[in-house]
Amino acid sequence: MKSIDQLDINGKKVLIRVDFNVPTDDQGNITDDTRIRAHLETIRYATDKGGKVVLISHLGRPKGKRNEKYTLRPVAKRLSELLGKTIPFSDDCVGEPAEKAVAALKAGDVVLLENLRFHAEEEKNDPGFAEQLAALGDVYIDDAFAAAHRGHASNAGITAFIKECAVGILLKNELDYLRKATVNPERPLVAIIGGAKVSDKIGVLKNLVEKVDAMLIGGGMAFTFIKAQGYEVGKSLCEVDMLDTAREIMEKAKQKGVKLLLPVDCIIAERAEIDALAKEASVQAIPSDWAALDIGPKSSALFAEALAGAKTIVWNGPMGLFELEPFSKGTTALARAVADSPATSIIGGGDTDTAVHQAGVSDRISYISTGGGAFLELLEGRSMPAIEALESCGGAQ
Ligand code: AMP
Repeated sequence: MKSIDQLDINGKKVLIRVDFNVPTDDQGNITDDTRIRAHLETIRYATDKGGKVVLISHLGRPKGKRNEKYTLRPVAKRLSELLGKTIPFSDDCVGEPAEKAVAALKAGDVVLLENLRFHAEEEKNDPGFAEQLAALGDVYIDDAFAAAHRGHASNAGITAFIKECAVGILLKNELDYLRKATVNPERPLVAIIGGAKVSDKIGVLKNLVEKVDAMLIGGGMAFTFIKAQGYEVGKSLCEVDMLDTAREIMEKAKQKGVKLLLPVDCIIAERAEIDALAKEASVQAIPSDWAALDIGPKSSALFAEALAGAKTIVWNGPMGLFELEPFSKGTTALARAVADSPATSIIGGGDTDTAVHQAGVSDRISYISTGGGAFLELLEGRSMPAIEALESCGGAQ
C-alpha cells in the first residue's frame, strides 16, 4: 500500500476519510477531542503540500437519516481552533452543497463535509454513493483506523472509483505498531487481556495464544477460567457456556509452552457499588454471595513480574470494574507496570486508554491505538475490509 508521502498532491483535491466519531454531551459539546487531534498530522501534511483537503467522517449512529444530534458542525469549530484557521463546513457530504464547497477550495484549504451516515447508502456500501464521494477528490487517503473493520462506501467501496489511494499518517502508524505486535514481534511478546467477557474476546484469545510467549488474563473474564479450573467464583462474572472454550485456551497454552497467568487473589464485594464492603480474597475462596471485582495485590505483583524482560507488550481490557475507585487499583497498578517496562507497549480499546490516562502514565506507553473494535479485529488476525480495499485500489499497488 502507498502512503500519503508517496503521492503527488500539490494542487489536487485530497479526499481524506477521517474518524471524527468523538463523544459529545447532551448539548452536542465535544467531551474528548482525541480523535480530532489524532488526524492533525495528516491534515497538516496534506495542506503543507498544497492539497485541497476534503474531510469525510461519520459520527454516532444516525441510522441513515439526517439527525442534528449527530451533526459534525461542532467538529468543524473545534478543528478550526486546533488548526488556527476557519474550516468551512458543508451541510451534506454529497450533491450540490458538497460539490460547491469543494469547488471553492484553494491549495492548502480544508473543508469538512457533513456526517456520512446521514445517508443509508454509506453503511450499505452502495456503489452509487461511493462513486459520488469519489468524485469529490483527485486522490483518496484513508486515515480512519477506528473504522477500518467496517466495509462502508467511504472506506471500502470508494477505492473502485478513484485512481490513486494511500494511507494517511495515523492509519500507517496504527498498522505499523499493530504489526509489531502480531507479525514478527520482538520477543518475549506478552499479551494482557482483560474486560468483562470471554465471549467478546474468544477470537483474540485463540489467535494470541498461538503467537505470544505469555498471556495474562484479568478482569471479569478471568473468573470463567478460574471456574473452568474447578473453583467456585460466587457472584463474579462467569460465562458457563464458555467453560470449554476457556479449557481449550488453557490446553493450547500448555501445548505451545505459553505462560498463561490468571489472578491468584482478588478484591471481592457484596455489591458492585462504590460504598460496598470490599476485601481481599484468594481466587480459590470466593464466598458464594460475593463477587470478585478486581484483581488483588498478589496478582498485580505476579503480573508485573511477568512483564519483566518483555520486549513487546500488547494490552486490551481493564483488570476489574475500574470505573469504581475501590475496584480500580489492579488496573492502575498494571498501567504503571506497563509504563515502567522498557518494552514496546501497545494498548487499544476505550477502557484501556482511559485507564492509562487515569493512572497518569499515557505518555510512557509506546502506542495508544485510536481503535477499539478495529484493534481487537487486528489482534484476532482478521483482515479488515478498508485495508483490503486500499490494497486493491489501482493507484495503491
Ligand atoms: P470489555 O468492554 O469487555 O473490555 O469490558 C470492560 C468492562 O468490563 C468495564 O466496564 C469493566 O468495568 C468491566 N469489568 C472488568 N472486570 C470486571 C469484573 N471483575 N467484574 C465486573 N465488571 C468488570
